[in-house]
Amino acid sequence: MQSIINQNLVKYASYINGEWCDNELNFRVENPATGKPIGQVSEVSIHEVINAVDAAAQSQLAWQGLSCNERGVFLKRWARLLKENAQDLSQIMHLEQGKSIEEALGEISHSADYIELYADNAESAFRCDSVASANHQQSIVYRRPVGVTTAITPWNFPCSMVIRKASAALAAGCSVVLKPSDLTPFTALAIAELSHLAEMPKGVFNVVVGSDAQAIGEVLTQHPKVAKFSFTGSTPVGKKLLAQCAEGVKRTSMELGGNAPFIVFADADIELAVEAAIASRLRNSGQTCICANRLLIEDSIADSFVEKLCSKVEAILKDSRSGKNISLGPLIDQQAVCKMESLVHNAIQEGAKLMVGGNRQQTEGHFFEATVIDHVTKNMSLFNSEIFGPIFSIVRFEGEQHAVELANHSALGLSGYVYTNNQERQRSIAPKLQVGMLGINEARLSNPAAPFGGVKQSGMGREGGVFGIEEYLDYQYVCTAK
Ligand code: NAP
Repeated sequence: MQSIINQNLVKYASYINGEWCDNELNFRVENPATGKPIGQVSEVSIHEVINAVDAAAQSQLAWQGLSCNERGVFLKRWARLLKENAQDLSQIMHLEQGKSIEEALGEISHSADYIELYADNAESAFRCDSVASANHQQSIVYRRPVGVTTAITPWNFPCSMVIRKASAALAAGCSVVLKPSDLTPFTALAIAELSHLAEMPKGVFNVVVGSDAQAIGEVLTQHPKVAKFSFTGSTPVGKKLLAQCAEGVKRTSMELGGNAPFIVFADADIELAVEAAIASRLRNSGQTCICANRLLIEDSIADSFVEKLCSKVEAILKDSRSGKNISLGPLIDQQAVCKMESLVHNAIQEGAKLMVGGNRQQTEGHFFEATVIDHVTKNMSLFNSEIFGPIFSIVRFEGEQHAVELANHSALGLSGYVYTNNQERQRSIAPKLQVGMLGINEARLSNPAAPFGGVKQSGMGREGGVFGIEEYLDYQYVCTAK
C-alpha cells in the first residue's frame, strides 16, 4: 500500500462511533494480480459490532432530526472528498480488487454521482400525500426514516456498492453500520475516513471489518435496534440473511445474483452487438452482476456472430499470453479460477464446443483466459450458472418466442439485453422478459437516477434515484378530526 500518496486513507481497523478500533487479531488481504499480501486488517469483535449498532441507534434521532438540506451538506462534502481523492482510492481498489485504474476511476466518479443525486432528491422523497377521507377528517400520509440500517456488500465493486447503500440511507435520515467483504476492506475503510473528514456526526456511519461474515451478519440482521437490512451479494447468501431477518421482521433490500440473457436477433447490427457483448462480458473481468451471462444468438446469424466474436477474443488472448497490452484483469481469488475451470470442463462434457481459451493463465495471480464456448443448451450447467468470469456462453435460438422462452428459463431476473433493429420488437419485447432492467441496443445500464435491481431470485428493492431513497422510508398515515 506504499503507492498510496495520502497514507491517511489507508486504515487497518473498523470505524465505530467516529473512532478506529484496533485489535490484536488480524486477517490478511491479498492482491489478486499477484496472490501476495498487501496488508493485515484488524478483526472486529462481536462486542464491537454490537457497539457499532448501539452507536448508530444513539445518533439516529439527531440525524433524522436534521433537514434534508442539512444532511445534504455532509453528503456533498463526502462526494467532493471522494472525487478529490479519486487517484488514491482507485489505487487502493486496483490493489485489493484487481480492476484497472481506469475502471476504478469510473466507479468512484459514478459513486460520487449517486451521493449527489441522493442529496439533491431526498426532499422530494419525503413528500406528504393528502388522501381521500370522510368530510370530518383530514388524512395525510407522511414518509419517515425507517431507522438504524445495517448493510453487507460484496467485493466486486468495493466503492459503489458501499456508497449506493450508505448514501441513500443517510440521505433518508438513517444511520448506518456496514460490513464490506473481507477481500476488499481497504476501500470501505478509506470511504469511512472520508466520511470522518466530511465531519459526518459520530455514530452516523460505521464500517465493521472482519473475516467471520456469519457471526457479524447475525448481529447485523438480528440486533433488536436494527430496523432495516440491505444486502448485495449472491442469491444463496441473500436467502440465508433474509431468513435471519424474518425473526425480527426487519425491512430488507436484496440485490442478488444475475444470469443476464443477451439476445441478438438476425435483424441486429452484428458488429455493434459483438462489441457490446465483449464490453459487457469482460467488464471487471466478467465479475459484474449485470454482465451478459448467456449470449442468445438467432440461428441464421450465429456462425457469423461467433466467428467475429472469436476473432476479437483471440486478439485479447494473444495480448494476455504475450504479456503486452493486458486488458483483462485477474479474478478475485483461486476459488474463482477453479470455478472457471470446472465450468469449462463440465460444458465440454455436456456437449458444448470450446472455441477459444479455456485455461487458467500460467502467471502469478488469479488470471483466467478469455474463453468462448458455443452450442450451449438450456440443460447444461453453464446455462444455469452465474459465471462471474471471462467466459462467453453461446446459445442458439430460432425465432422470438424461443428467445423469450430461453431468456426466462432462469430463477434469476436481474438484467437483460436485446439487440434488434426491428422497431416493433423494440417496443413490444420488454414486458415479455422477466428482468428488472433491460438494455435495447445498449449494454451500459448504470444510471444513478434509474432504479437498479432485479425480479425473481435476483432480489427485491431498488437502488438509485428517488426509488433508492424510498427503500429507507416508512409510511405513517395520520388521520385528524376536523
Ligand atoms: P457473497 O459470497 O454472497 O458475499 C457478499 C457479502 O456477504 C460479503 O461481504 C460476504 O462476506 C458476506 N457473506 C458471505 N456469507 C455470509 C454469511 N453467511 N452471513 C453474512 N454475510 C455473509 O457474494 P460475493 O461473491 O461477494 O459477490 C458476488 C455476488 O454478488 C454475485 O452473485 C453478484 O451477482 C452479486 N452482486 C449483485 C449485485 C446487484 O446489484 N444485484 C451487485 C454486485 C454483486 P466475506 O466476503 O467477508 O466473506
